[in-house]
Amino acid sequence: MEIGFLGAAGTVTGSKFLIHNNETRILVDCGLFQGFKELRELNWADFPFDPKDIQAVILTHAHLDHSGALPLLVKKGFKGSIYCTEPTAELTQIILLDAAKIQEEDAEYANKMGFSKHAPALPLYTTEDVEKTLPLFEPLSLHEEFKIGNLTCCFYSAGHILGAASVLIASDEKSVCFSGDLGRNNDPLMPPPEPPAESDYIVMESTYGDRDHSPVSSKEILKQCILEIAKSRGVLLIPSFAVGRAQNLLYEITELKRNGEIPAQIPVYFNSPMGHEVARLYEQYPEYHRLGPGQFAEVMAEVHCVKDAEESRALNDDKLGPKIIVAASGMLTGGRVLHHLKAFAPDPKNILLLAGFQSPGTRGHTILNGAKEVKLHGMYVEINCKVVPSDSFSAHADRSGLIGWLKEAPFKPERIFLVHGEPTAADDLRRCIDKNLKWVVSVPRMNQIIST
Ligand SMILES: [Zn+2]
Repeated sequence: MEIGFLGAAGTVTGSKFLIHNNETRILVDCGLFQGFKELRELNWADFPFDPKDIQAVILTHAHLDHSGALPLLVKKGFKGSIYCTEPTAELTQIILLDAAKIQEEDAEYANKMGFSKHAPALPLYTTEDVEKTLPLFEPLSLHEEFKIGNLTCCFYSAGHILGAASVLIASDEKSVCFSGDLGRNNDPLMPPPEPPAESDYIVMESTYGDRDHSPVSSKEILKQCILEIAKSRGVLLIPSFAVGRAQNLLYEITELKRNGEIPAQIPVYFNSPMGHEVARLYEQYPEYHRLGPGQFAEVMAEVHCVKDAEESRALNDDKLGPKIIVAASGMLTGGRVLHHLKAFAPDPKNILLLAGFQSPGTRGHTILNGAKEVKLHGMYVEINCKVVPSDSFSAHADRSGLIGWLKEAPFKPERIFLVHGEPTAADDLRRCIDKNLKWVVSVPRMNQIIST
């Protein structure tokens, strides 16, 4: 068996692993590179293999850095099946259609403004490319064995987001377990990750391999922010990813109200059409999260879903709080949250809660670093509100969580490969595994191929 590390090696995005075993050739994940320009440019390069030769793709979860290059693969000749869990199939459809729309709009805007170096600017892929990709999805249940050529595969819950899975891939001779992105043991909505499936090799993520999350819970941070705006009659604005993060936030805010820890009458506005669609999937697939049937619908019944742009504007016109607004995007790069930022950031009685990772280069990162004004929609907006950054809302296991996951393995693997981490995070985790478990561990380079 050969494992090719074609993405998320030495970096956190672009997950893409090629498994080649005799006649069978498959990909695990097919994600977009994101972040710095140098990385994003890799999305425009040819794949280092012929997509026509790939029999199938196994998709661990819906996030773009794992699924976002699938339409490109199809555009370049891939015709096989895409195996994933049921919620992952539905979430990926929502995410890919949204990604294509944003790329089309960005290309159109660049052409209109004439600032693209490419004439005309083109989207990486279009809605039509996504529509050709969707019929290839083969949704499966967790723990349901499936065959691709001479390989036997099976998904296990990874906890990270709805439908996220680890996958075991076995041939007659060797087996490898891909962790996918691993969630936390104490996530409010997702179950803890299942232990690694017995295998010769483990390919594990290392996003937070060099640190532990803050011991203060996300619920406690929300509570403090909400009590503060209740007193000041301010607005709590939470930029949030529409998938996963937003649903966790809404659930914890509802819990705080139900437990009487915050005033029940403070209205909660959820302003993300994509987030509303995702919330419906939580209602549809209770077996993939911690709540029982009907319970997520009860959470959503207590939240005001903002339907259109008019309603969104009306929220900004009414400056008096207390009120809570959860809106996408999570790093203030676009979406309806920008209009709320413009309306509420200049007032010191309001709070901006940065509940997610903020990539360098985004407005979220600029504000996190203490900027007193940011440019948006061609004007400068003053940031006078209180800014609360927190890593307690992360959907990833931290270093202790990753080591804890390995310790649950009922076997000793021949070798562990660390992927999906910046070089320092992966290397710190490598040393930590070596010290704690004395297992053989290495950090593959991008495009390295390992024969087992
Ligand atoms: Zn992810």
